[in-house]
Amino acid sequence: MADHPHYVGRFAPSPTGPLHLGSLVAALGGYLDAKSAGGQWLIRIEDLDPPRAVPGADRHILKQLADHGLVSDQPVRYQSQRLHQFDEALSVLRDKGHLYFCNCSRRSYPGLYPGTCRARGMAFEQPAALRFRVSETTIKQKDLAQGALTWTHGKDFGDFIVHRRDGLHAYQLAVVVDDIAQAVTRIVRGADLLSATPMQTCLYHAFGVKPPETLHLPMVLGRDGQKLSKQTHAPPVDTEAAADNLNQALRFLNQPIIASDNPKTILDTAIKNWRIDRIPKLIGKTL
Ligand code: GLU
Repeated sequence: MADHPHYVGRFAPSPTGPLHLGSLVAALGGYLDAKSAGGQWLIRIEDLDPPRAVPGADRHILKQLADHGLVSDQPVRYQSQRLHQFDEALSVLRDKGHLYFCNCSRRSYPGLYPGTCRARGMAFEQPAALRFRVSETTIKQKDLAQGALTWTHGKDFGDFIVHRRDGLHAYQLAVVVDDIAQAVTRIVRGADLLSATPMQTCLYHAFGVKPPETLHLPMVLGRDGQKLSKQTHAPPVDTEAAADNLNQALRFLNQPIIASDNPKTILDTAIKNWRIDRIPKLIGKTL
């Protein structure tokens, strides 16, 4: 234990609905990984998109987590209270020449953004988004669960939006600014966010900060093969069955299950048992 004395991890749900088993797996995996390393585990509510937010979902998620024994080691941070810091970060990127204005609509290009506005040098006009000009050809990452990965600019990811045309800060920007501000050293999350990693790595490089390690857990798939998500109406985790839910999540992550009906006992034992090399090296898996 305590092989990473400065380990800081986090769980960063968007408050778009209650916690389901897929998000519980991500929360539990992150918690066990942080605690087994003697580190801190933080919770951050990513409430930057008011139209998608469900009123009260933040409190519901925090209550569900707490009922499973999963509590943040620091006061819970809300991204909606950090708009000023995100604006400052945008200024830094703009001053360094990393951003350009873009007024292309999402419908005007089928797949990856082809960089249409890159060379236009457009002055600010409404409505326009701010995009990050990717200068790196490839991004490599050794993910702790998924192994060595390489993404190529123009093939796997394109220049990406950091400030949306509706005036909202984009997820890619906010997540990196906050992970830097909270000194996060390892990101544990679902493999649905694997494709965001190269864009986030570009931002770390632009800010001159070493990117955190990553550990992308397999996504929980429903019987239809689709990721469990709030959009597909995955049922909320039932906090009356917290011990069973934790054991289901442990089984999913290929960790030993623990015969107890006390969430705290399960967590304490699961911390001792936690082994990254047992995690299935898969993008998605049914329960
Ligand atoms: N807020 C994101 C989500 O709920 C997760 C962000 C992250 O873990 O990087 O999908």
